Amino acid sequence: MPKKVDTASARPFTYRDRLLHCDEADLTNLAAQHGTPLYVYSAQQITQRFQLFEQAFASRPHTICYAVKANSSLAILRLLAKQGAGFDIVSGGELERVRKAHKPALTKVVFSGVGKQLWEIDAALEANILLFNVESEAELDLLAARAEALGNVARFAFRVNPDVFAETHPYISTGLSEHKFGIDIKVARAIYRRAAKSKWLDPAGVSVHIGSQIRKVDPFAAALTRVTSLIADLRKDGHNIRYVDAGGGLGIDYGAGTFDPAKQVEKYAAALTKGLADEPAHLLLEPGRFIVAQAGALLTRVLYVKKNGSKTFVITDAAMNDLIRPALYHAHHEIIPIKQPTKSRRPDLQVDVVGPVCESGDFFARDRALPAVKPNDLVILLDAGAYGMSQTSNYNTRPRPAEVLVEGRSTKLIRRRETMRDLLAPELLD
Ligand SMILES: *Cc1c(COP(=O)(O)O)cnc(C)c1O
Repeated sequence: MPKKVDTASARPFTYRDRLLHCDEADLTNLAAQHGTPLYVYSAQQITQRFQLFEQAFASRPHTICYAVKANSSLAILRLLAKQGAGFDIVSGGELERVRKAHKPALTKVVFSGVGKQLWEIDAALEANILLFNVESEAELDLLAARAEALGNVARFAFRVNPDVFAETHPYISTGLSEHKFGIDIKVARAIYRRAAKSKWLDPAGVSVHIGSQIRKVDPFAAALTRVTSLIADLRKDGHNIRYVDAGGGLGIDYGAGTFDPAKQVEKYAAALTKGLADEPAHLLLEPGRFIVAQAGALLTRVLYVKKNGSKTFVITDAAMNDLIRPALYHAHHEIIPIKQPTKSRRPDLQVDVVGPVCESGDFFARDRALPAVKPNDLVILLDAGAYGMSQTSNYNTRPRPAEVLVEGRSTKLIRRRETMRDLLAPELLD
């Protein structure tokens, strides 16, 4: 048995001597050294979260294929690969990231996505990935043609749409028949039968992914119950199904309350186990957010504090291009100052925390109670490790943030801040 993981805290960010630290690293020092906005991650917490998953599923054959899109930094991919992770990718670009981070992990890659292109399919076939998660019959035809052209048999699973409702933001809910994802589970059996006629296609599994930031675990069980019954039918039809891919989507608590990640993973594992019943197939899991979200935070400096009528605005040097979740999903991120406020300080102010981008949608918080801050103070947006850096852009010609990985006492710059030269390099004049 692996040793039990210590998960006393859901977040690696704590005050020591009134200054916020990420594990052992003093964030004031990191800001001075690398500037802001700056993403900071705890390697220890990423490892812990991965190990929680490993432990929860230890009793059955499984592979944890971390969802690269949640945070695709090479250093984080390498960290997870060294823990034994496989990877869930959604593009040829992500395949190249896995190759660069840890080449042997290519054989533990599953490839999801509704719009795979020919070059992406070819690259994945040549890399001999574990499994294609196919999302349409047309994609399957292309996969068969490319497998034949390259002389490599393609292992595939259909991503089925179980028509299960899971409560989350509509943009990240994917398991209903009205969504663009997967194929209707009711017609899956006929499509597998057709696919099995090609000797270049190996119907090796069935896959499902119902959405992201799902807090209640019952929908996962419901989806897997349907998948398990489909697998039984497929076996009757003579298919050699070896993999059941349960997707990702396990949510975290972005709020200020207490949250026990170990308990959450246990509940999740129990729900999956219930849905799988005695299905013996090798289980693939695709967690993204749960592994990296709370390990990371976005450190930013206050530029200005201003009043417009009755409202107070705190303007930070980070903006929606650096962290789009509040603008895109109305997502909540806790915001705390780097200097721990003393009790005697003035009471909290109601403020809007906003960035410099020229959009009213460029906000991190609205009407939020925040300890009084002034220009040059540092604040941090918590739980920004997932869908933070990976969704950044250069909107307003703003260089993307730098990223630092904290490993116990040492800190490592894992991505330098972009320069104007980086930003302008692809553009052509005359
Ligand atoms: C995004 C995605 C995941 C990861 O979702 P999380 O909510 O980050 O766990 C897993 N599988 C597929 C197919 C995805 O699209």
